[in-house]
Amino acid sequence: MKGLIFNVKRYSVHDGPGIRVTFFMKGCPLSCLWCHNPEGISPEPQTVVQTRKVGEKEFNSREMVGRYYSTSEILEILDRERIFMEQSGGGVTFSGGEPMMQHEFLLEALKACREHGYNTAVDTSGYSSAESFMTIMPYTDIFLFDLKHTDDKLHVEYTGVSNDRIIENLRMICDSGKNVIVRVPVIPGKNDDEMTLKSMRDLLSSLNRDKPVGINLLPFHRIGMNKYGKFGMNYRMNDTTPPSPQRMNELKDFFEAGGFKVKVRG
Ligand code: SF4
Repeated sequence: MKGLIFNVKRYSVHDGPGIRVTFFMKGCPLSCLWCHNPEGISPEPQTVVQTRKVGEKEFNSREMVGRYYSTSEILEILDRERIFMEQSGGGVTFSGGEPMMQHEFLLEALKACREHGYNTAVDTSGYSSAESFMTIMPYTDIFLFDLKHTDDKLHVEYTGVSNDRIIENLRMICDSGKNVIVRVPVIPGKNDDEMTLKSMRDLLSSLNRDKPVGINLLPFHRIGMNKYGKFGMNYRMNDTTPPSPQRMNELKDFFEAGGFKVKVRG
């Protein structure tokens, strides 16, 4: 079996504990307004045309986005980085896109990584069936689980899908005693008002916390905006500016007051 991956990031320090190798898997059922990986949304390989200008001349080149990897290729990549991962308490992270869109491959890859002694993390929007999550849980050391909004109507407006099953899956994974880091994208004007922040903190406080739930606050940025044109998509966040470091510290204090261990960025 092979999985479609659009990026492999080595020495990643923001996708779970320690130094990690992150595989970004293609395909996502959401369409968040602020997505900075638009190349991860389509579940198919895509060809994009790059135009470069040298002097007066323009040169076009074609680039394939997404390539199929076997589990053994994934293990070969990891084996080359093993020393950094072991010394830092890191491991492998499957991100996306939404890795659960390729659930069967994900399951096979997680099992193989575990058998080879790697710490495994899954970075997910939470939007998949409970059954699929249950199958990967035994092979996943830590879940990086997105919480984007508690209001269902606004969740649909901003991401294209309801948050019902996302919140149910989050509860189920916390109940199972897994390590969970909840990742909150901080999007000015969309989910950083007092009422929303309070309801997110209340929701997180209501989770089973036999194992402490960590929180990563991910400040909105526009780094991915230039990619949209290449994929024939419209960028819809031109009017939003990233939150200031002071604002991020205020939010960190706010969630810490709820008894959570909070990191900005992760
Ligand atoms: S869940 Fe992540 S990858 Fe999917 S659209 Fe939202 S931000 Fe992009």
